[in-house]
Amino acid sequence: MNGEKYQVEIIDAGYCRRMIACQDACPVHTDARGYVNAIADGNYDDGYLMARDPNPFASVCGRVCNAPCEAVCRRGNIDSPISIRALKRFLCERYGVEAEEHIRIAEVPAEGWSARLLVRHAPGNSRTSESVNTLLRASEKRMPAIKRAKVAVVGAGPAGLSAAHDLAVQGYKVTIFEAAPSPGGMLFLGIPEYRLLRDLIRREIGDILKLGAELRVNARLGGGFTLRTLREEGYEAIFIATGAYVDQRLGIDGEQLQGVIYALDFLRRANLEEGVEVGNRVVVIGGGGTAIDAARTMLRVGEALVEKDGTATIDAARGALRLGARKVHVLYRGTRQEMRAPEEEVEDAVSEGVLLHTGLAPGRILGDGGKVTGIETIRIQSAIDEEGRRVRVVVPGSEQVFQADTVIVGVGQESDLSFILEQDGIRLTPEGTIAVDPETLAASAPGIFAGGDVAFGPRIIIEAVRDGHTAARSIDRYLQKGEVSIVRRATFREVAPQELPPEGWLDKPRRRPPLYPIDERTGLSEVELAYDEATAVDQASRCLKCHIQTVFNGSLCILCGGCVDICPWSCLKMVNLDKIVGDQQLEAVIQARYGMSLQDMPRGEQSLTPGTAMIKDESRCTRCGLCAKRCPVGVITMEAFSFEEEMVYEEAEVA
Ligand SMILES: Cc1cc2nc3c(=O)[nH]c(=O)nc-3n(C[C@H](O)[C@H](O)[C@H](O)COP(=O)(O)OP(=O)(O)OC[C@H]3O[C@@H](n4cnc5c(N)ncnc54)[C@H](O)[C@@H]3O)c2cc1C
Ligand code: SF4
Ligand code: SF4
Repeated sequence: MNGEKYQVEIIDAGYCRRMIACQDACPVHTDARGYVNAIADGNYDDGYLMARDPNPFASVCGRVCNAPCEAVCRRGNIDSPISIRALKRFLCERYGVEAEEHIRIAEVPAEGWSARLLVRHAPGNSRTSESVNTLLRASEKRMPAIKRAKVAVVGAGPAGLSAAHDLAVQGYKVTIFEAAPSPGGMLFLGIPEYRLLRDLIRREIGDILKLGAELRVNARLGGGFTLRTLREEGYEAIFIATGAYVDQRLGIDGEQLQGVIYALDFLRRANLEEGVEVGNRVVVIGGGGTAIDAARTMLRVGEALVEKDGTATIDAARGALRLGARKVHVLYRGTRQEMRAPEEEVEDAVSEGVLLHTGLAPGRILGDGGKVTGIETIRIQSAIDEEGRRVRVVVPGSEQVFQADTVIVGVGQESDLSFILEQDGIRLTPEGTIAVDPETLAASAPGIFAGGDVAFGPRIIIEAVRDGHTAARSIDRYLQKGEVSIVRRATFREVAPQELPPEGWLDKPRRRPPLYPIDERTGLSEVELAYDEATAVDQASRCLKCHIQTVFNGSLCILCGGCVDICPWSCLKMVNLDKIVGDQQLEAVIQARYGMSLQDMPRGEQSLTPGTAMIKDESRCTRCGLCAKRCPVGVITMEAFSFEEEMVYEEAEVA
């Protein structure tokens, strides 16, 4: 409602795409609805293709994606969202890089340099502009004319590797320069193994590299080579995807004491099995995913330093979960609901023994003889300021001391941009990221593009993957000097009754995937396991099938109101035209039909408007189809909406 009026939109293809909220919210537009429904139908290979087509990190995302799709899933309006991420994992365990029956989607033939599709099949609504099928089909047509330029990708995290994947598919000579000894970025250096198996990361990256990109590790931009020297070596475009891996400082007294460690630094060293000394009384400061990962890793770190090749090493991989032996406190200044770490991860941390304290801010770190002995905190509570805004205030006299020999600071991260020199002509933002055009990811110097965390600050994996896709398409346009347009097609098809959600779908609760028993968890063991087949099918059949639309043919309606009465969620209403407002599209429809504007409609109780609008609140429609069944004159049909995008290139310049 907008005041006394209903805000109304005319249904069109854009509207129908937005109704499939999970797909619309996914940064790479994964057809989540499609693969969830495919699982419910037992059609697992198609389901996997839908998950993989737009995402070279499908298996990684099946484990650890932050799942923006679940945050908006329409089933969440009824009870709890569909477990979209866990269902993706179920598919990947059958056909992803971790599976014996792995389905590879594209390859570079031994005798050629350009990739070809192994699976020419993009089922469901998965043929979007991010899809490898869409990209390769479009690229194949112009391969003979394409200029095979050299492209440098700096940083082998999900953004850089996704760009390399798409650039290789398009036939470019791609070299990836990575500062660390292994590729993967934060997947490998940040996310702990108990959430994401190293072998799975290696396999997924291996699949990407098989498409033809060359990887050079231990190759740091700014250490031995610069952007200028890359250009001199013939790289015609450069994608910078170096992430945000520098820990932010707290800026409080005592931060220089021995025993203060920064969360990313700690996780990187734990993941690379490098030495770091930790005590048994640990305080972690921060409420984001990094702080929680650091706290849980602390519980798994071996008791003592282990000698390995003469080097002190924490035995992160083999350390058993040391319930009770090491006390790990997490201090966060806000409330639990305000923590940026995903709720399920916070829950798991607490169940493993992490002691969570909210509403506490660090005051100063205490020490003796140069070493940490504790941390003094102060209580924070929320209050309303003079202008009615919610603010946080310090509670006077609420100081409290936590004894500690290790303090881990996980309060944020930023980028190291020391490799950018003045003569490079690259503009930075006040936030310390590389300034880019958000549409193309072009930086301010010609031929330089940037994406992922280095351009937008810390975000999530799937957004980095999206940036990789965007950069690859922009680099292609930059190098070929040609334009590409996206042609969109949409169709509707009346569905058979058995395609509507199955009986009892609203009674099924969301179930979390099983967790490894706490007392058997070690540094190596994954905490969350996969659904078994029966549970996966059961969970998938909770889906509301948001691609199905109730399509109304107003010219047949006899205004009986049967559909309005029968709808179990009161989604439908018939209202006078003076009760609705909308955009230009609505105005055009009203003008065409009634020859007057909405504004000119007669108003008030006694006036009769020339027509009635059937309006629908989509938020709770469960696609049950009762309205269509009830209608005596067949006004309402239940129709499946599908769409595809095709990339059409203007003729490329021949080199
Ligand atoms: C502890 C932690 C846990 C996380 N958990 C999740 C999660 O569960 N789910 C989720 O979706 N997201 C998670 N994220 C966020 C996610 O990992 C990042 O958003 C994502 O990895 C960013 O990708 P990127 O490619 O931009 O950068 P990165 O992954 O940071 O990769 C950048 C790469 O560039 C390299 N590099 C840096 N400087 C140079 C240089 N000068 N020359 C050459 N190479 C260089 C780095 O070594 C690194 O390999 C987590 C992040 C952290 C830190
Ligand atoms: S109910 Fe199904 S189709 Fe609708 S948003 Fe959720 S997963 Fe997607
Ligand atoms: S499909 Fe079911 S929930 Fe949706 S409008 Fe019709 S009767 Fe209501």
